[in-house]
Amino acid sequence: MSDGPASDGPVIDRLAGLPPLREVIAAHGLDARKRFGQHFLFDLNLTRRIARAAAPLDQGTTIEVGPGPGGLTRALLLEGAGRVVAVEIDPRAIAVLEDLRAVAGNRLEVVAGDALDIDPSSLGPAPRRIVANLPYNVSTVLLVNWLHRVDALQDMVLMFQKEVVDRLAASPRSKDYGRLSVLTQHVCTVQRLFDIAPSAFVPPPKVVSSVVRLRPRPAAERLTDLRPLERVTAAAFGQRRKMLRSSLAAVFPQPQAVLERFGLPPTARAEELAVGDFVRLAEALDE
Ligand code: SAM
Repeated sequence: MSDGPASDGPVIDRLAGLPPLREVIAAHGLDARKRFGQHFLFDLNLTRRIARAAAPLDQGTTIEVGPGPGGLTRALLLEGAGRVVAVEIDPRAIAVLEDLRAVAGNRLEVVAGDALDIDPSSLGPAPRRIVANLPYNVSTVLLVNWLHRVDALQDMVLMFQKEVVDRLAASPRSKDYGRLSVLTQHVCTVQRLFDIAPSAFVPPPKVVSSVVRLRPRPAAERLTDLRPLERVTAAAFGQRRKMLRSSLAAVFPQPQAVLERFGLPPTARAEELAVGDFVRLAEALDE
């Protein structure tokens, strides 16, 4: 018989019987590697808190990027995930996850590969959510990839370095407001959830981490193609101290005329424009 949510009881008992993560890592010699951005979470209270933030998990597919030794993966299963598909790049971690996979049955699939190369819509049926303690070295590249494919996603609950979440949530005229703020806030609502201290991780990172929920806005309120918005924001924030009439010359032959058409002061700087202003400029670029 399959181990769907209807038979949670035995799976939960078997998960509880797994050895502690510290022992699992020691037994497999899974020392954390910097090049994979590895900082592991062992505290089940914390991982379950992250998993609960993404609930309900029983329908569709819960995509975890970078399960490592499987701390958050265990939490997702304990919180009732019907099907977890976990994408991991480090072959050593894939071997470690085998015991968890055996216990979880068909509720867990482990995919060996680079999440940067994988389209989330290929990983299982909707509704799909991504839940991850992201590898910090590629976290923003992964996020931008997912923003381009957000139609495939219902929700994302992600952990980043706190300074990245500051950028995702930043308002105009603040030092953190930039390209990532505009792209993310145009596509999703950004809800900060909680911070996690460096001491919670093995090995501890140098900075505080933050968990954030990103929920796609209705499709009718979003650009279907994000590339013009990427180009406009790259030009504007690439030279953020310059006036827009000058920085936008990289993408518009007559930037002053375009800015005036939208009632935007040509002498303004990128950080003074609202997300919606950048969207109108992107639409003009697309014309
Ligand atoms: N989820 C685990 C936890 O919370 O303890 C590990 C999180 S650790 C910050 C990041 C994980 O992502 C590592 O297991 C690392 O090997 C994996 N990883 C790094 N780059 C990746 C990539 N491009 N694709 C898939 N996994 C990746």
